Amino acid sequence: MVISGSRIAVAAYATSTTLRIATAFPSQIFKPVLCSPRASLTAVPLLPVLPSKLSMTLSTSPDAEPELDNIASNISSVKQRISDAISSHDRPDGSVRLVAVSKTKPLEFLKVAYEAGQRCFGENYAQELISKSADMPDDVSWHFIGPLQTNKATRLVSAVGLNKLACIETVSSLKLAAKLDRTVESLNEGSDEKKKLGIFIQVNTSGEDSKSGVSPGEELVDLVKQISEECKWLSINGLMTIGAPGDDSCFDLLRQRRDEIAIVLNRDPNELELSMGMSGDFEVAIAKGATSVRVGSTIFGERDYSSNING
Ligand SMILES: *Cc1c(COP(=O)(O)O)cnc(C)c1O
Repeated sequence: MVISGSRIAVAAYATSTTLRIATAFPSQIFKPVLCSPRASLTAVPLLPVLPSKLSMTLSTSPDAEPELDNIASNISSVKQRISDAISSHDRPDGSVRLVAVSKTKPLEFLKVAYEAGQRCFGENYAQELISKSADMPDDVSWHFIGPLQTNKATRLVSAVGLNKLACIETVSSLKLAAKLDRTVESLNEGSDEKKKLGIFIQVNTSGEDSKSGVSPGEELVDLVKQISEECKWLSINGLMTIGAPGDDSCFDLLRQRRDEIAIVLNRDPNELELSMGMSGDFEVAIAKGATSVRVGSTIFGERDYSSNING
């Protein structure tokens, strides 16, 4: 069980009434109480608690998960917001793809979204994408948007297949690109229809150590050049970034780098996509030129990582 980000909840039940005192606080707050001799035990009897009723539980998800029934209307309101943002910034109709980010969510959620017309899903964990894609209809296109270890790349691409795996959005090293390239080459061997795998280059536009991605300077240009020269089975679809929350200069930077990369690749900048914008900022991202937005919690509800299957 993963408890990072969760809180320990202590619930105390009063005996004679139904009064319930539930407090959630980080475990550090216990420390002074437990360690300092001056934090006298007299604090404890102030709570009208029967020891037998004192229960400690791990809080699973503090916010109620929106019902399955909300998914369809969430999708239509996100689509409406996308088209409003498109028209208020004079961009062509249909110029922004909605990637529904379904990581950690059960299959039923994806099926409801599919019924509502959603065909493009984003997942962060290789194993989760592999198993969900096996259980969803074949006309779903899958975007991989999480960190991908080189040793899981072959399994991901070959298990999902080039028809269903639309792209890997998180390529930021030549090592991973080369591995993907070899995998695609061998899948194409003996097949009449040769297909390429789409990739996005993930750029760390915020400079935060915690964010993955290649740095936006020379390193990005070099990586793009090397991949375009050495990986003929990959098609560079564009750039992707997460960005720092609330800092839309990250989106400006990605767009500016996209225009420079287009020159390096001798391509029309409008052919190179910009994957940027999530639940909290997809309209801003569209204003800044996003062609693909990745929206999770606004569609499927807050995520609970405590019972997540990673891999
Ligand atoms: C989880 C995730 C999202 C979706 O985030 P929300 O805020 O839930 O919309 C988008 N992009 C990436 C890379 C993610 O990991």
